Amino acid sequence: MGLTDLPLRDDLHGQTPYGAPQLDVDVRLNTNENPFSPSAAVVASITEHVGAAAAGLNRYPDRDAVALRGALASYVSQRTGVAVSPDGVWPANGSNEVLQQLLQAFGGPGRSAVGFEPSYSMHRLICRGTGTDYVAYPRTASFDVTAAVAQSAIAETRPDIVFLCTPNNPTGTTVELDVIAQLYDATSGMVIVDEAYAEFSAGPSAVTLLSGRERLVVVRTLSKALELAGARIGYAVANRSVVDALQLVRLPYHLSAVTQAVGLAALEHTAELLHWVDELTVQRDRIARALEELGYDVYASEANFVFFGGLADQQKMWNKLVDASVLVRDVGVPGHLRVTAGTPDETDAFLEAIAAITKESSE
Ligand SMILES: *Cc1c(COP(=O)(O)O)cnc(C)c1O
Repeated sequence: MGLTDLPLRDDLHGQTPYGAPQLDVDVRLNTNENPFSPSAAVVASITEHVGAAAAGLNRYPDRDAVALRGALASYVSQRTGVAVSPDGVWPANGSNEVLQQLLQAFGGPGRSAVGFEPSYSMHRLICRGTGTDYVAYPRTASFDVTAAVAQSAIAETRPDIVFLCTPNNPTGTTVELDVIAQLYDATSGMVIVDEAYAEFSAGPSAVTLLSGRERLVVVRTLSKALELAGARIGYAVANRSVVDALQLVRLPYHLSAVTQAVGLAALEHTAELLHWVDELTVQRDRIARALEELGYDVYASEANFVFFGGLADQQKMWNKLVDASVLVRDVGVPGHLRVTAGTPDETDAFLEAIAAITKESSE
């Protein structure tokens, strides 16, 4: 018995699930998580909030997550300088669920989305899951999205949704705000800006563009800079009408009382949680410099990872790094790999391993 015996949707036959390998190695630099765990004080605060929530678990949680939206709105306002109201914030189980809700509301059968690749593979997969046609356009040779690239993609496909990831996973490159503004003017569809790595970037957030742009949505997460990948909390920032649209498709009580409690606790400690961002950008820049010295092509990254090329065979390099107990990411771009900035020790382990492999293969 297998999938072919089931009355599965035709468009899902022959497809494979999302699968970053979860291997048991010493140094895991493959999923862009924050390597530092929340501090003892933050853990204590989370435990207290969750304990209080536990006593009320006989009841369904706040369907509209009002308190959490208020805390997220304050955090975004403080980070971006834009006065964001709780009405314009919508949290879900990871930004992946936010993206899925956006696709349920604005995509679906007979509708299309465009993305600029290489980019975050889940954009394509969430389109597939929601029956939305996904059309990929290539980035420039330096992995940028220019206004010209975006405008010709929009003119050709006339999409209902445009995905832009900035800083972009896997390349780390950013899209200028004026390009986003031009792209917005060129489409009548929704523009989804995925800012999962915003806190690692020196540039301004697309939240600063929201005023007067009803079809713009900025999607962010607590999974990366804020050390909470395991908590599954992401959120959209948009104009209120977009949040109204998401409420039409979300499942009732989608965000558990425990998750809301974890988010509220964590957002009382954002300064502390963000403490490691500077350290991680130091490690990122160290990786970039060292890879350049080894002769690889390195792309300027404003995230917590580095994308590099110039590998004769990236699968071979990936395997050799695994042999050295270092896990990086092969995103399927020939000759390229992505490595997450780790702790100083993890970064040392990666740099030593790749230097040794590079030396050995040039002998
Ligand atoms: C890691 C990542 C996310 C985060 O997804 P969550 O569901 O919030 O954990 C979203 N977008 C991009 C581009 C990412 O790299």
